[in-house]
Amino acid sequence: MSFLLAIHTYGDPILRKPAKPVAAITPEIRTLIADMFATMRAAQGVGLAAQQVGRTEAVCVLELPESYDVEDENEPRLNPDVPLSLALVNPRIVERSDETCSMEEGCLSFPDVRGNVERAWSIVVAHLGLDGRPQKTRLNGFYARAAQHEMDHLAGKLFVDRFTYVKKLAIRAKLRNLEAETKEKLGAG
Ligand SMILES: [Zn+2]
Repeated sequence: MSFLLAIHTYGDPILRKPAKPVAAITPEIRTLIADMFATMRAAQGVGLAAQQVGRTEAVCVLELPESYDVEDENEPRLNPDVPLSLALVNPRIVERSDETCSMEEGCLSFPDVRGNVERAWSIVVAHLGLDGRPQKTRLNGFYARAAQHEMDHLAGKLFVDRFTYVKKLAIRAKLRNLEAETKEKLGAG
């Protein structure tokens, strides 16, 4: 059984807190992961990091529709050996391609904000598997993008930080409003 967690939005200071490594895959961590998957699915996201649900364990979850894991329609998956649902515990990028690509992203903590972010096309992530053993996973294309976005969250970094100066100016008022709304809710809660 899993529970839906509240998603914390921009302006909540927890989003700027760096996550702490997890010492072991405990039942509490398994529960957190299950609840994060349920929360992400309910919100129709492709990724979610601990801070977005008010936690600071170094845990993020990813889940892509198969159609996102291809370069072009009707082509084979870019990451055929990686399950389409993935929980990363204590993830760390140990290798990244020089090749980058820019693509529009959104974030569950930023309703109505979208913008282009340039990221490495391919990465290798060292992390703990759910069996508690260290492992490495190579991710390509959109999957690599989603993982980099979530690992940014774990470092307290947000996708808007990576927007161009011009884009930052364009969304400044929107961000200010979202921040005020979030702070108001926090105050009321
Ligand atoms: Zn996000």
